[in-house]
Amino acid sequence: MSTLVIEPIPVLSDNYVYLAHDPETGATAAVDPPVAEPVLAALARKGWRLSHILATHHHGDHIAGNVELKQATGCSVVGARKDAARIPGIDIEVAEGDSFLLGAAPAVVMETPGHTSGHIVYWFPDTPALFCGDTLFSLGCGRLFEGTPDDMWSSLVKLRGLPAETLVCCAHEYTATNGRFARLVERDNPALKARIDQATRLLAAGRPSVPSTMGVERAANPFLRADVPAVARAVGMDPGSDPAIVFAELRRRRNAF
Ligand code: ZN
Ligand code: FE
Repeated sequence: MSTLVIEPIPVLSDNYVYLAHDPETGATAAVDPPVAEPVLAALARKGWRLSHILATHHHGDHIAGNVELKQATGCSVVGARKDAARIPGIDIEVAEGDSFLLGAAPAVVMETPGHTSGHIVYWFPDTPALFCGDTLFSLGCGRLFEGTPDDMWSSLVKLRGLPAETLVCCAHEYTATNGRFARLVERDNPALKARIDQATRLLAAGRPSVPSTMGVERAANPFLRADVPAVARAVGMDPGSDPAIVFAELRRRRNAF
C-alpha cells in the first residue's frame, strides 16, 4: 500500500505535468512533460529525483520534454506499445491490463482510444489516482483526432467505473470553458454548479482547478453522462438513444462552442 504525493506543474499555455512521488521509495514520475526546465526546477524545489516519465500519448505537448529529461536524470520512459514509434525515448512498452511498480506504488495501464489511437492512462489504485492525459478533462473530454465517438465513449465508460475518490489528473486546464459548455447541457445539475463554483474559486486564487475526482466528474461531466435522459434531451434526442450517438452530438457541439 503506497500512496503517491501528487504535484501539478503548469507548463506551456494550459498543460499540466504531474509529478507523482512515492515517499516510501523516493521513486518519482513526471506525466506527459512537453518541456524539461520547469519539471527539473520543480524536482529541485521538492528534493525529488526523477525515476520515470509516463507518456499518455504522442502529441508534442505531452512528449517533447522526454529526451532532455531522460538525458538530465537517467529516468525510464513508459509508453504504449502500440505507439512505441511515436513516443520519444520509450524504454518500457505497456498495453491494456499491464501493471508495473512506481517504487512501491502499483500502476495499472488502460487503453483509451479516441483522442489518439494509442492513448493510454495510468491508474494507481492505492492513492487512488488516474493520469488520464487528453482522454478525460474536468467537465470535458479530448477531441477525437484518431478515433470514433464509439471508441471514445467506450474509453470514458471504462474510466467512469473507477472509484469515486479517484483523483482525476488530466493534462489541460480547460475546466472554465468546459464548465460554460456543460451549463448549456445540464442547466439544473447541482453537482455541475458546485464543481463550477469550486473551480472558479481555485482559478481566481491562481491555483489549478485540478485534480478533480471521479465521483464529481461522474455527477457533473456531460461527456460521462451521455446515457442520462436529461443529457440526451438537451441535444434534441430521445432519452434511451444510443449513448455513443448522444456523445457524438455533445462532442460535435463542443467543437463548435
Ligand atoms: Zn493530445
Ligand atoms: Fe494535449
